[in-house]
Amino acid sequence: MINNKIADIFQEIGDILEIQDENHFRVLSYQRAAQVIRNLADDIEVAYKKDPKRILAIRGVGKDLFSMIEEIIKTGDCKMHKDLLSHFHPGLLDMLRLRGIGPKKVKLIYMNLGIKDIKELEEAANEGKLRDLPGMGEKTEISILQSIKDLKRYSERTLMPIALNEAKVLIDYILGCKEVKKCEYAGSLRRRQETIGDIDILVSAKGKAKPIMDHFIKYPHVDEILAHGPTKSSIVLNTGIQIDLRVVEDENFGAALHYFTGSKAHNIAIRDMAKKKGLKVNEYGVFKGEKNIAGKTEEDVFKSVGLPFIIPELRENDGEIEAAKKGKLPKSIELKDIQGDLHMHTNASDGSQPLEVVIEEAFKSGYKYIAITDHSKSSHIANGLDIHRLLTQYKEIDKLNKHYKDKDFKILKGSEVDILPDGSLDYPDEILAQMDIFPASVHSRFSMSQKEMTERIIKAIQNPYVKIIGHPTGRLINKREPYEVDMEAIIDAAVACNTALELNAQPARLDLTDKYLRMAKKKGAKISIGTDSHHSSQRAYMQYGIYIARRGWLEKNDVINTYSLTKLLNHFKK
Ligand SMILES: [Zn+2]
Ligand SMILES: [Zn+2]
Repeated sequence: MINNKIADIFQEIGDILEIQDENHFRVLSYQRAAQVIRNLADDIEVAYKKDPKRILAIRGVGKDLFSMIEEIIKTGDCKMHKDLLSHFHPGLLDMLRLRGIGPKKVKLIYMNLGIKDIKELEEAANEGKLRDLPGMGEKTEISILQSIKDLKRYSERTLMPIALNEAKVLIDYILGCKEVKKCEYAGSLRRRQETIGDIDILVSAKGKAKPIMDHFIKYPHVDEILAHGPTKSSIVLNTGIQIDLRVVEDENFGAALHYFTGSKAHNIAIRDMAKKKGLKVNEYGVFKGEKNIAGKTEEDVFKSVGLPFIIPELRENDGEIEAAKKGKLPKSIELKDIQGDLHMHTNASDGSQPLEVVIEEAFKSGYKYIAITDHSKSSHIANGLDIHRLLTQYKEIDKLNKHYKDKDFKILKGSEVDILPDGSLDYPDEILAQMDIFPASVHSRFSMSQKEMTERIIKAIQNPYVKIIGHPTGRLINKREPYEVDMEAIIDAAVACNTALELNAQPARLDLTDKYLRMAKKKGAKISIGTDSHHSSQRAYMQYGIYIARRGWLEKNDVINTYSLTKLLNHFKK
């Protein structure tokens, strides 16, 4: 998808301009546009081809940025970006990828010590050379070294939703080759792991494989061709993601899909089961002696070893095979089970659309209810609502609810209420009492000890007004570690108080994780899948939440926003 590329270019332009001390508003215009574009669910290139004017409707995109976007769509590049880069040390941009380092710090370090890349920065931090710079100290050095370690650890992996969008666009392109019969992605992406290494794609050919390979390496977004063989080729996209394409026999497509979907541990367990039946399973099929007896579909492969179909999300050899043997596989939740979204922002806080637009779009999508959950007053950066603004919003909601009265759609009054460091909430009880449902979330003091943080969240869980705990570990994948928290204790408290825990569907959050979802289910806690959307296009993130929920063995009844409105509200009448 071209959105990420455009966002990367704008982000880099903004960062370079900031390091060069350019006009603050100019810097901001690039950085904001980058953020908005990265969060769009629709492919800009597709939108542009339908009608270029649609690009001008994107928030923060004026005439200048519009013509740059046009240039990137048409040429794959942007002259201003190239010019800026040619007079700039690229290592300085790498330094920005470190958590806790912004353009101002990069500039400070570069101007004072002449440090141009991460390697030099690491040396300087180890030698204690950074601590004397203004605003820095020994602590900063330690945290910079930690960030460098984290970056090395994370840099190989792509967020699943980003990889998924890349894979979908690429598969559309591959299917454009007339020789292709079937085409699907496999691997950890198909198992919906939260981050992905390489993307594995399988195709079967109608005739010869060569034209498919030739077509594949001509994909317009290729940065590097690693291999170009008769049945296997590998490319690196300009987003840095590696793609391996294999051509397999159409009669064995299911066996290959099963094999390359993995996980390895799951495959080994299946192979062992097959062995006991005198069969051999591999990527070419299921063999009895020399004879290939199954492999056209994945269902055939499972059937040959006496199992029902197991969805890819469960294939981790973590109990799914035993469950399948006993006929006890979960009836996994699906997107169509979702009735509404209980975590949504408007431009009253840090969302980008007005209340009535957010609501109308959700109504049109077929939802039966949504909760409006703008930030509470202590979230200053997110333009949190003071009591007066909140109550004004509630009056608006009352009016709008009248409008939707006969349309089987209800707007719930909420807020994403900050859990303050002492575990109390950011609004007084008489205000909380006016809310229908709301998530309470931690947005500050992430570095508390595990004991303090656990107590803080449990205190919020015990507050009788709190129905949901938002993004319970606060992690941002590839950027911020989860805060220290005893999740088992949190889940136990949630069960005891009938408080739901959120599975936040934002691509970089996906929190709770599959492991904790499974623990929550076993203990009987309920989950709310919220998109935390800041623009209507982000309602589509619900799908990512569903994928992770399926990895966590969740069924429809484990998730409160599959309930009808009446059941949802009754559920919380304690
Ligand atoms: Zn939040
Ligand atoms: Zn939020």
